[in-house]
Amino acid sequence: MPSLDSLEESLLSYYRACELCPRRCGVDRTENQVGFCGEGARLRIATIEAHLGEEPPISGKNGSGTVFFSGCSLRCLFCQNYQISQEALGRQWTLQELADRLALLHEHEGIHNVNLVTPDHFLPHTVALVRLLRDRGIPIPTVYNLSGYQRVESLRLIESVADIYLPDFKYADPTLAHSLSQAANYATVALEALCEMVRQKGFLDTFVGNHDHEIAAISAEDLSSPSRQGVLVRHLILPGYIQNSLQVLSILFVEFGGDLPISLMSQYAPVRQFPLGSPLSRQVTRNEFQEVFQHAQELGFRNLFVQFPEEAAMDRRPFVPDFHLVNPFPGNIRTGT
Ligand code: SF4
Repeated sequence: MPSLDSLEESLLSYYRACELCPRRCGVDRTENQVGFCGEGARLRIATIEAHLGEEPPISGKNGSGTVFFSGCSLRCLFCQNYQISQEALGRQWTLQELADRLALLHEHEGIHNVNLVTPDHFLPHTVALVRLLRDRGIPIPTVYNLSGYQRVESLRLIESVADIYLPDFKYADPTLAHSLSQAANYATVALEALCEMVRQKGFLDTFVGNHDHEIAAISAEDLSSPSRQGVLVRHLILPGYIQNSLQVLSILFVEFGGDLPISLMSQYAPVRQFPLGSPLSRQVTRNEFQEVFQHAQELGFRNLFVQFPEEAAMDRRPFVPDFHLVNPFPGNIRTGT
C-alpha cells in the first residue's frame, strides 16, 4: 500500500474508526471499509493543475496549484465536480509523487499556493504533504478549499499547516440541506466551523484594513501579491432557492459583520437530470442574482467578489469541468470555480 507507507502512525490512526467529518461513520478505512465519502485510506486524486479559475487573490497571475481529491463527504446532488465527488474518478498517488508534482508546478508554472479541494476525507495525508513541501523549502501558502461541512476537531488537526481557508456556506435552510446534501444540520455545523477558521486565520489578508475599495474592483492584474492568509467564504447561488441565499447572507452578517470577505457565485449549471419542473434544471437568472447581491449590499458587506450571471454565461462550459480530460477546465478563466 504505497500511499499509506509514508504516513506516520499518528496520522494513520485517524483513518481507523474514521470520524474526520461530521458524518462520523466510524469505519476502519485502513481495512478497506468505506463510509459516506466513498474512499478508503489510500490517497486518490483526479486532477492536479495550475488553475486560473479561483478568485483573483487565490489564482493570481500564474494560477493556484489545485489538487482535486477523489470522493467527497458532502456529495451534493448538484455538484459541479460530480465526476470526482460521486463517480469516484481518480487514481492512487503516493505522497511523494504528489509533492514532486506540486514542486514541479511551483518551479515551472510559478503557482502561488497549494490548493486542496474538498480534502476532508484525506486530511491526515494533507498534513504530511504540507510537511513534505516545507521540508523541501517550498514557501507557498496552503489553501484548504472546503465544503463548509467540517468538524472543529478536524480543523484543529490542520491548524498548523493551513494558511488560507476557502469554505463554502451553502445552506441556511435545513430542509434544502437535507434534500440536496443529506445534511440537515449543515448550517449549524458550518457556522461553528467558520468561527473556528476565522479564529485561526482571520479574514483574507487581501481585505484586512482595506475598507475603501469598490466591490468586485480587484482583478488579478491589480494584485501585486496574492493572498497569504485568512478566510474567504463562498456562496453558490442556486436557481429557485433565493430565500436560502438571503438567509445565508443574513446569518453571516450577524455572526461576522460587514468585513467578512465573501464570493457570490452565479455559475451554477445543471449537470444531471432533475425531476421535471425542478429549478435546478436551469441556470440562475439576472433577477435572482440581483436580489441576492442587493441584499448583500443592504446588509453592509464590503469585501465582495461578485460573479454576474452574464459573465458566467459567456463561457458556461469551462465552469463545469470534465475530469476525463487532461485539462478539465479548458477555458481556465479567472472568476470563481
Ligand atoms: S471522512 Fe468519510 S469515512 Fe470518515 S467520517 Fe467522513 S464520510 Fe465517514
